[in-house]
This record gives sequence, C-alpha cells and structure tokens, in this order.
Amino acid sequence: MSGTSLHRFEALAEEDAISAPLARLYAAALRSAADPAWEVGVAIDLEALPHGTSRAPLLHERAIGIESARLAFLLEELARVVAAQSIEGGQELWDAVTGGRLDAVALLAASIAHREIEFERLAVQASVPASLLTVVGQALALPVLGACWRRARDLVRQLEWRDGYCPVCGAWPALAELRGLERSRWLRCGRCASEWSYPHQKCPFCGNADHRTLRYLAEEGKQDTQRVEVCEACRGYLKTFSTITAWSLGDLLLQDLTTVELDLVALDREYRRPGPLGFRMDTRVVPRDREA
Ligand SMILES: [Zn+2]
Ligand SMILES: [Zn+2]
Repeated sequence: MSGTSLHRFEALAEEDAISAPLARLYAAALRSAADPAWEVGVAIDLEALPHGTSRAPLLHERAIGIESARLAFLLEELARVVAAQSIEGGQELWDAVTGGRLDAVALLAASIAHREIEFERLAVQASVPASLLTVVGQALALPVLGACWRRARDLVRQLEWRDGYCPVCGAWPALAELRGLERSRWLRCGRCASEWSYPHQKCPFCGNADHRTLRYLAEEGKQDTQRVEVCEACRGYLKTFSTITAWSLGDLLLQDLTTVELDLVALDREYRRPGPLGFRMDTRVVPRDREA
C-alpha cells in the first residue's frame, strides 16, 4: 500500500471518532500486508484450474498454506490496536490472544468462508463478542487474501469472469470504479483487492440488466464522479466512483470508509448491501512452519 493512503488512514483515525477504530485496524493490517514476506508466507496450489465456464471463485475447494507464526504475530498486533481503544471486548480479545484461547488459523478460516457459526464458536471460546471477532477476522484476512490475488491475477484474466462476486475470494464487490477516459466499469473486492470488468447497466448482485429497474442516486453535479447505483429488482446498491487508474487495496478501503454519506442515502431509501459473500466458499487453511 502506498505511504499516502496509510497516512490518510492515520489522519482519518485522528479526525473521525466513529471511523477511528476501523481505520486503525485497517491501517495495522495494511501495514503488515505491505511486507513482501507474505508472498512466501502464503501458499496456494493453483494447478487444475477450473474450466472456463466454472462459476466457482479460485479459492473455492482449495487449501491455503499459511506461515502460522506470521499470522499469529499479525493477530497479536491487531488485538493490541483494538485493546488500545475503548472498544467493547477489546481487553478480552487481548487476553484471549495472549492467553492462547484464540487460534489465528481458525479465525482466518472462519473469515475467508465468512462462517457465522464458526465465529460464534470462537467467540464463546475466547469470551469475546462475535461481532468484534468478525471485524478483526476481516482485517486478519487482508494480507493473506491480497497475496492470493497477486498470485492469481494472471489466471483471473484468462477466466473471462462474468459473475458479480469476486473471482478469487467470492466476496461481493465493495465498490465499482468507472476507470479512465473511457469510463470502463471495474468491480473491486474489498477483501483481496481483485478487480474484474463488468458490463454497465447490469446489477452484479442479481444479474438484472433491465435498464428500467436500474438507476443511480447522486448529489446534483456529482453524478459523474461519485454515485450509488441501485437495482429495483434485488434492492442492492453499489457505490461507484470515477478513477484514473486502479485503486490499491488501501485506497479502496479508505474510499469506502470515507463515503458513508452515500451508504446513508441508499439505506434511507431501503436499498442494502447484500451479505459479504456472493458464493458459498469452501476453503481450507493449513498452518505450516517456516522450516517446512
Ligand atoms: Zn476477493
Ligand atoms: Zn439486483
């Protein structure tokens, strides 16, 4: 991640008390993600690629090998960030992590598949609210999924991906970019930072392509730079921004976090973001030691 977006995350944490906990958590995860050691700390076997018509994201039914000490170190760092702020359950999280009652590999696996029942189980074991574990788990997964995306990038280009969810990790897009002078539409994943091109005038959530039921909400005069695209068929919404080039993961998380006013406009009109995943992921996480 660029130094500029890290700096902007820190500035946001200072300025905005509501976004501060999440901004600090993301900043810690992204600082870690910038460490090139993740490239060797994460292993995925991308042999036996799905054929062209498969609708399964690349990480589905695959194992991610993870350097467990590196992951445990990141979880401890995230717990330290949470405990330093007045967040409900923050101290309990720190106690669970340092007391060995929260397994980083199990939390990562629950996050990648977004398995609520697994978050609940880990929450009971660690005596930490499941909602807090969900957020920390998302941050924990960022460097890992980011490394998976970098590994899979060239393969994704060959896939001719046509679905609305992420071709790598199965998440619904965090936002859309209208990129460059030609304003081509790119969906962006807020978990692994992947990008995939997607037709204009088509809802990524339900595939609706009837222009009579697709429209956008925008502030007068700003519709070309930022708007919320909505679908009357499924009531889903997607924040959409014009960009010059592709945003980094840090930039797109920051953009999402600093445009809450657009979410409010959509929520006010009873549009919603669907749950985190568009595909039911089955991905195993296998711990491995540095020596292995
Ligand atoms: Zn993804
Ligand atoms: Zn829709």
